[in-house]
Amino acid sequence: MSRTPAGGTLRQWLAWLAVLAALTVGMLSVRDRLDKAHVALGFLLVVLGASAAAGRALGLTVAAAAFVAFNLFFLPPYHTPVIADPLDWLVLLAFLVTSIVAAQLLYRANATADAALRRAAEVDRLATLGAETLSAPDADAALRAIVAVIRTTVGVDACEVFRRGQVDEGPTGGLVGWVVRHGRSAAELSDGTVRMAPGGGGPAATTAGVDYVVHGPESLPGWRGARPPDTGDVRALLLPLVVREQTVGVLRIASSAGVSLSAEAARLLVALAYYAALGVERVRLVETAERAEAERRVESLRSALLMAVSHDLRTPLTTIKGIAHEVATGASPARAAIIEAEADRLNALVGDLLDLSRIQAGAVSPNVAVNTADELVGAALQRAAGALGERAVVVDLPPDELLAGRFDFTQALRVLVNLLENAAKYAPADTPVTVRARRDGAWLVLAVLDEGPGVPESERERIFEPFYRPPGTPPDVRGTGLGLSIARGLAAAQQGTVRYEPRTGGGSAFVFALPATDAVLPEDDDSDDGEPASAG
Ligand code: ADP
Repeated sequence: MSRTPAGGTLRQWLAWLAVLAALTVGMLSVRDRLDKAHVALGFLLVVLGASAAAGRALGLTVAAAAFVAFNLFFLPPYHTPVIADPLDWLVLLAFLVTSIVAAQLLYRANATADAALRRAAEVDRLATLGAETLSAPDADAALRAIVAVIRTTVGVDACEVFRRGQVDEGPTGGLVGWVVRHGRSAAELSDGTVRMAPGGGGPAATTAGVDYVVHGPESLPGWRGARPPDTGDVRALLLPLVVREQTVGVLRIASSAGVSLSAEAARLLVALAYYAALGVERVRLVETAERAEAERRVESLRSALLMAVSHDLRTPLTTIKGIAHEVATGASPARAAIIEAEADRLNALVGDLLDLSRIQAGAVSPNVAVNTADELVGAALQRAAGALGERAVVVDLPPDELLAGRFDFTQALRVLVNLLENAAKYAPADTPVTVRARRDGAWLVLAVLDEGPGVPESERERIFEPFYRPPGTPPDVRGTGLGLSIARGLAAAQQGTVRYEPRTGGGSAFVFALPATDAVLPEDDDSDDGEPASAG
């Protein structure tokens, strides 16, 4: 049903006028028994009903009609506008004033309630957006959430955000570039032309044709004072995203059916655009912080590398040179064994440095396959046998389950050997080392536990940084501080992790987790007794 310009549908108008007519006829039939107050009350009820249902205009119209009917049919002499008793004038006037005031009050109460409801919905939407933005795991996800909310809230087909750094701000940057440059709104019209919001005397003020557009653009940035809009043929609307008076990007909303906003929707859009601006700013800040962090890492790596080269490479070289000189000047050739050992150390160090640079360049390509924990632990114990010496080693594998994972065997072996060698280096020789393997959900978790000094809380993350050795590390234990960072890098390359945990009862637990997979049991009958070959 079509709405009348004055409010309410045509049907409502006809219905309420019919109610008034029916009431008039009804009361006429019992006029002799009615008091003037009854008539006034009856009419007042209809006026209130009409105002509540269809707004102020109908309420006032019904009041006027009731006024006439009251006069013509219920105040003597009947059927003429003349009123015999001057007191009746008072009754009629009181009726009219009461009706008008009641209609007016009802209208105001309704309008306030409507506005409150709309505000509540608006606040609700903004709160949702705020929550989504804050709970988004990263800046890009937050921005995507904001864009989705704007699209649904404003009811457009498309909503895009352009970030300042990604926009060509030159003359070839198009309308988006113009909006970024000038910090003012613009619109694309269905006839293929564009319109820019006029600025305070800037070049855009002279841009022709600002006489358009969206309903309620006064509240859009740059539109203050522009001529009110009259057409709805806007296909896309571009808004500058401004944070602390800086244009950080552009929001573009587009709809094939045309973008037409009520004053309220325009206000909401501006509020939402502010969220988008904050989202863009967050992305920018995160990137800046990441860049600064990357630079800091490169810088600290560079100085650590310099120190390593000057200390860890020079010390063995000095020893080699000294012993070579001794041997040359007649010392026992048996001393040359030291040269060999130092050369081995140098070789290992150079190997570690190369591995580290490969990891940092992202050049480690793991050869992932299904492998069992039994095989990995067995091979690692063999490889670390020299370092472990006479020490007691406890192997703790589940007795009735064959654990398997998807990982690169060689790289995982290096990680595990490194953890075993560290346990051998840092825990007293008379304490046992335990290697444990368990399945934990999607993970195959290997752990190397020792009963050594453990790592103080403040150092537990730093020991994984390249070249870092905590101040308390015994000076007689040789090392470069590269082992754990390489271990973590190799683990990460195959979607695994390495972390430190304090061992209950003292000592360290280095936990190496790899993606688990269900083991494919060998088909021979021997395996049916559930006794894994290498357990124990
Ligand atoms: P490195 O052993 O060459 O110093 P790592 O990267 O392997 O280098 O280890 C870094 C530091 O972590 C060591 O210097 C040591 O202080 C500490 N650390 C490693 N493993 C253990 C352990 N099992 N017990 C105590 N401290 C350890």
